[in-house]
Amino acid sequence: MKVRFWGTRGSIATPGPGTNHFGGNTSCVELTTDSGDVLIFDCGTGALGLAAKLMSRDKKPIAASILLGHTHWDHIQGFPFFTPAFVAGNVVDIYGPEGSRGCLHGVLAGQMEFTYFPVELDQLPAEINYHDLTEGIHTIGSTRVATQFLNHPAMTLGYRIEADGVVVVYLVDHEPFSDDLWRAGAEPGRIESILHAGDRRHADFMANADLVIHDAQYTPDEYGPKKTWGHSTYDYVVQMASAAGVRRVALTHHDPGHDDQFVSDIERRARTLALQCGTGLDVFCAYEGCELSLEPEAALQPFVTTAPFQASVADRSFRILVVDDQPDTLALIVRALEDEAYTVSKATSGAEALRMIAAQLPDLVVLDYKMSGMDGLTVTKALRADPATLSLPVLMLTAMTDEPSTRAGFAAGVTDYVTKPFSVPQLTARVRASLTRTQRPEAPTRP
Ligand SMILES: [Zn+2]
Ligand SMILES: [Zn+2]
Repeated sequence: MKVRFWGTRGSIATPGPGTNHFGGNTSCVELTTDSGDVLIFDCGTGALGLAAKLMSRDKKPIAASILLGHTHWDHIQGFPFFTPAFVAGNVVDIYGPEGSRGCLHGVLAGQMEFTYFPVELDQLPAEINYHDLTEGIHTIGSTRVATQFLNHPAMTLGYRIEADGVVVVYLVDHEPFSDDLWRAGAEPGRIESILHAGDRRHADFMANADLVIHDAQYTPDEYGPKKTWGHSTYDYVVQMASAAGVRRVALTHHDPGHDDQFVSDIERRARTLALQCGTGLDVFCAYEGCELSLEPEAALQPFVTTAPFQASVADRSFRILVVDDQPDTLALIVRALEDEAYTVSKATSGAEALRMIAAQLPDLVVLDYKMSGMDGLTVTKALRADPATLSLPVLMLTAMTDEPSTRAGFAAGVTDYVTKPFSVPQLTARVRASLTRTQRPEAPTRP
């Protein structure tokens, strides 16, 4: 298997003398399997060079699969210049997360409307197929592909590719679920010691990979004011990958404000940290033109998911109960969820919430932690003690970011734990991921 980096920059293309080495083009990575499957992770401006390479090769017609993590600009801006799509007979399959607003085809067509681009999406002569994905196991060509949602202010998928005896995992853009990575009192450096269930799931997804390509836009010093923007620090990535037994990590999605010297410094610090972790993890900062040949080093360990079957939620309607004793926060969350076309009801106390849930079971509860009277923990424990609400998803929304509170939340049985400050897109993405995970195929479809 071969992997080549065509775009390593995050957020916006940043050409110029200061980014000559690591590159100024936005996200695009080519993966070619031994059997000839071409998988392209993201289609940022780096896709231009890749398109030229594909067009110049002898093997025609061209068949390629584009796996979009999400549809923020820096991940799709190269698509209108992806020349194989302009040639009849070529086949381009595009995969991406089932969006919270609109299907993949609609979103990509939007950036090619006449106002923005002279050729509209449906005028492209190649055969283009669109695949809206949710979490699960998929087959693309002859390749097994697992998908899992990341933590980003948009529905964003990570991809785990298992082929040729090798595992490559693409995790861009993603931000830690929790400020504290490790549970107090537990031995750090092990997956089971990770505090937040979301981070633990993220580590499990990359377990034993030969190569993980991961967002590492910030240094720990920069992260504070950029929290909720949906990106990781290199130290988070190195610690997670070490715990997950990953062999090699490519740090990518470099910040547009970081020149080559700065990124080199990140690489040096990341390597020092990897050495301290002591698992033999090899870490480097991805650069444009970097090409890796991957051979099996150990028996491939396929990703096994114990999560329930993840069904499409695109065409279904859901009822969500929001519980908060702060009127401003309550109104903000209700409005955000109503904008996403959910049917939203609200309660201002824990007791009122339990009464409402007993009268009509919602699909998900967004629950404040600290409330006067009965707090969110007590509500969660009551729900978990009742067989009728044992598996009702509870998303706790709280200003309590400390380790003991997070631990107490999960111990009480919350499904997800979202800390303030949060952004509305981040919250709605987490709500949607929770709903996706709790849908089983036998669940009745609501009218
Ligand atoms: Zn991005
Ligand atoms: Zn993004």
